This record gives sequence, C-alpha cells and structure tokens, in this order.
Amino acid sequence: MTLPAPGAGRFAPSPSGDLHVGNLRTALLAWLFARSTGRAFLLRVEDLDRVAAGAEERQLSDLAALGLDWDPPVVRQSARTDRYDAAVDALSADGFAYPCFCTRREIREAASAPQVVGDAAPAADLAYPGTCRSLTPADIADRVAAGRRPAWRLRAARETWTVADLLHGSFTGRVDDVVLRRNDGLAAYNLAVVVDDAAQGVDQVVRGDDLLTSAPRQAYLGHLLGLPPVTYAHVPLALNGDGRRLAKRDGAVTLADLAARGRNAEQVLAVIAASVGLTGTPQDMLDGFDPAALPAGPWIVDPALL
Ligand code: GLU
Repeated sequence: MTLPAPGAGRFAPSPSGDLHVGNLRTALLAWLFARSTGRAFLLRVEDLDRVAAGAEERQLSDLAALGLDWDPPVVRQSARTDRYDAAVDALSADGFAYPCFCTRREIREAASAPQVVGDAAPAADLAYPGTCRSLTPADIADRVAAGRRPAWRLRAARETWTVADLLHGSFTGRVDDVVLRRNDGLAAYNLAVVVDDAAQGVDQVVRGDDLLTSAPRQAYLGHLLGLPPVTYAHVPLALNGDGRRLAKRDGAVTLADLAARGRNAEQVLAVIAASVGLTGTPQDMLDGFDPAALPAGPWIVDPALL
C-alpha cells in the first residue's frame, strides 16, 4: 500500500540581514508544526530584492545552530523567474491579469479618495483603484510606445476570500488587484510565494501574523492558478517594549550579537522555547508540541534579558 505523500511545511526568509530572535522563533514554530505532523520541512530563500551580502549563509547556519534541520534542496527565488512568468501568462490567458502603468504616486493619490480607503487599512492593504483595469489595446500600445514598462496586476473577480488558519480559525480578508510582476520584470512577493509553495509541495504555511491579511489574496491567486489550497498558521510576532515589531536596532537580538555577549545558541534557544512554553532541543519539543497551547499574544522582547 502506498501512503499519501505527507506534504511539507517551510520557512521562507528574505536574506536582507541576520535573523533576530523573533524570526528564529517563527522558524522553530514552522519546524515544529511540520515535523510534528510528519511533514517535510523546506527552506526557501526569498531573494527577489533586498539581498545583504552573506545573509543567506548566516541565516542557514543560525537555523542549524538552533538544531533545526531541513530537507534539501534549499530553493532560491532568483532562480525561478520562468515559473513566475508562466503563472502570469496563464492568468493573463484566462483574463485574470492586465498591464498597469500607474506610478506609485498616481496610486497613492487615487487611493486616498475616501471610497477606496478602508477605515484603518495599513498601506499595504490599500486596494488598487483600478485605473488601468479597462485600458484598451490602443491605450496599452500608446503607453508602451512612449517607453513605459507596465507592471502586471491580478484582475480580481472577488472582493474577499476565506482561508483556514489553525490559530485564527476561518479568516476572511480582502482580495484586490495585487501586483503579480513589477515593472522591473521581477515577480511580486504574492505571486512568487503562491507559485513556489505549490511547486514545492507545501501544504502548511506557518509564518508571522503580520502576513495574515495577505493569506486571502494568496489563496485566491492559488485558486485561480488551479493549485491545491494550503493550511495556514499565522503565529504571533516578537515585539519590542514599544509594541513595535522587533528589529535589529532594538539591541542584541541576533545569534551573532548574543554570542558577542557570551550567550551561546543553546541558551538563546532556551529563551525562545520558553516564550512558547517549551524546553529542550527542537527534537525534545516535538513530543509535547500542541498548537492549541501556544500563547495567543505577541512575544514582548526585552533584549537586556536575552
Ligand atoms: N519572505 C517573507 C518574510 O521574510 C516571508 C514570506 C512567507 O512566509 O510567506 O517576511
């Protein structure tokens, strides 16, 4: 008898700098969710922009220092442009993508019209006002002839989409005409993540809850591309004492910083693990791992106590 493939979880850092304890905690949780359910655990380097020299190597060695392992190969988004282009072409062929010539400024100005701004919508959640949705082929040809390079956007046919999240339950969020490919030709994050998760067999996405509001539009994109749905677990972030997302400027928060203060990886792991109510090595934590027992609120980090 052949058992069904177990699926995979993943951690997908952007190599823009060293991982801090909040990122490492998300990685540990992603590993625990995957391994405790018999899944593979994959690493994907999201290097489409903001790459810092040496960051990828340091991120991987920091994860290994904590005792996390992963199933090869490590995938890099910069090597996968063909797949992203094929997805944009497929959406375009089905009428679900269109070229957009708007500048950021034009979008900001149009989007600040009251009817398209949600009450307290963060900037990233502003709906695209649809300026280029109904350009004629002649309009498009004129703009291209004038030397303007378009981005490509999703032509969303729905306003919302609902996803299943192991920690947040059923979550409904906005779907809009997100950018699929930027006007410099690079795939946009929302497209790349959906294409890659499916191509890598990822069926469980564990990541920081700052991305919860992105999940509905990503799941909708996956649906339009005919990809299988994924289960999400958006875990609480690490915050600094001011309630803002933890950042490197908050103090000694990376393994390298902490090593310089005499703290080894094992000690840092113990602090991270305690923040989710666990102890021991990652392998030890597998036994007692229960997503329902995770703290619901953010982890407030005082770097002086690390
Ligand atoms: N690369 C993204 C980040 O570092 C994570 C994307 C994801 O997990 O979907 O914030």
